[in-house]
Amino acid sequence: MDFNDTPEEAEFRAEARAWLRANADLVSPDDDDDGDLLGEKLNPEIVTQCKEWQKKKADAGWACLTWPKDFGGRGATAIENVIWKQEESKVKTPPEIYGIGLGMCGPTIMTHGTEEQKKRWIPDMMVGQKIWCQLFSEPGAGSDLAGLRSSAVRDGDDWIVNGQKIWTTGAQISDWGILVVRSDPTAAKHAGLTYFVVDMNSPGVEIRPITQINGGHGFNEVFFTDVRIPDANRLGEVGDGWRVAITTLMNERASIGGGGGAGNSSELLRLAREVQLDGRPAIENDAVRQKIARFYTRAKALQFTGNRTLTALSRGQTPGPESSLGKLVGGVLIQDMAEFGIELAGMAGAVDDDEFSADGAAWQERFLSIPGLRIAGGTDEVLRNIISERVLGLPPEVRLDKGIAFKDIPTGPPSS
Ligand SMILES: Cc1cc2nc3c(=O)[nH]c(=O)nc-3n(C[C@H](O)[C@H](O)[C@H](O)COP(=O)(O)OP(=O)(O)OC[C@H]3O[C@@H](n4cnc5c(N)ncnc54)[C@H](O)[C@@H]3O)c2cc1C
Repeated sequence: MDFNDTPEEAEFRAEARAWLRANADLVSPDDDDDGDLLGEKLNPEIVTQCKEWQKKKADAGWACLTWPKDFGGRGATAIENVIWKQEESKVKTPPEIYGIGLGMCGPTIMTHGTEEQKKRWIPDMMVGQKIWCQLFSEPGAGSDLAGLRSSAVRDGDDWIVNGQKIWTTGAQISDWGILVVRSDPTAAKHAGLTYFVVDMNSPGVEIRPITQINGGHGFNEVFFTDVRIPDANRLGEVGDGWRVAITTLMNERASIGGGGGAGNSSELLRLAREVQLDGRPAIENDAVRQKIARFYTRAKALQFTGNRTLTALSRGQTPGPESSLGKLVGGVLIQDMAEFGIELAGMAGAVDDDEFSADGAAWQERFLSIPGLRIAGGTDEVLRNIISERVLGLPPEVRLDKGIAFKDIPTGPPSS
């Protein structure tokens, strides 16, 4: 298909570009790119900047592009959203801290919430004044999320929640969280779950930071001790939490699937021109040139595969499970490129210091961060399962816990 903008898309792009350039500075190669939720630089001042930027976009009609107009969105098409993201990536913006709220929590509330719940949570979320987090994973439930054990017990108009969540991105700056807990251990694994919205400032919620290998503090452990959640905060029916969670997870996959974000081999080229190998610029070395050419080829193949997703979007179709390829192949590619960037820098590659290391230590930062991205939102192995079952049509995994009451599923002996 033709990937040039249609006249309508070109008009949309020009309008988006004009607004962005009137309201933000252009990105320059010297800018740091590690200031996201999992980067090192999240602090109250940056959170304030994020809130100001989101409010500015909302006031001008550029927040939540694909959301329906009734919810304060622009009612834009998926392809217009892609165009907006392309243009927004060219200007300096505060870190992205609204992905979970706007990309996952908002659409879930729109689908499963009552009118009262939509009015209560959506407007503040849209203008960025309230931050949201996702309290799904537990120490024993990640890929196998439905195996979660945190419990909710009904008590009058409230539910009392106990248990532990982990890897909760942004919990330390969040006002609200989406939470899936087990409300009926006698029901089968997927049938005994209920979905809530929890006020992160409730008594009994304790947030403990987890420090990442890159020095950042993006995610946390969150402990619930007798936390009271009003029944009015329940999304969907009691016992129907898995269906609600699937809506969240589908939106999560759509927001990180796509196949964009392929590594940028021109940055490696620039580095290879700057650093020396055997007394000559590294770019003059045949093996270095070949390696960069291979990265370029892989990145292009990924980009063209990503174009299939764009084609589906521009035809108004929903991209299929093949978009899992983008995350799987892209994650490995960026990690390989980061490893090579560090290798190229020689001894200096071992120093992770943005003042002294080549490219402001961007390669070291990527090298340390990408493994996390290969786990979040579906590990490499889980994506391979999806591709084998739903794209290649291979037989599904054997599932031994089907149809058994959750409390009767055998587990290992308790640790002493
Ligand atoms: C950067 C980051 C941010 C995150 N943010 C959040 C958040 O905000 N909220 C939240 O709830 N969670 C979050 N998570 C958690 C994330 O969803 C889980 O880490 C992920 O689902 C994997 O689960 P796990 O860590 O329990 O690993 P496990 O599921 O225990 O996997 C361990 C290993 O076993 C493999 N494996 C598991 N099942 C299969 C299978 N069926 N077939 C083959 N191999 C398998 C995995 O690929 C992996 O290698 C985040 C994680 C990361 C890394």
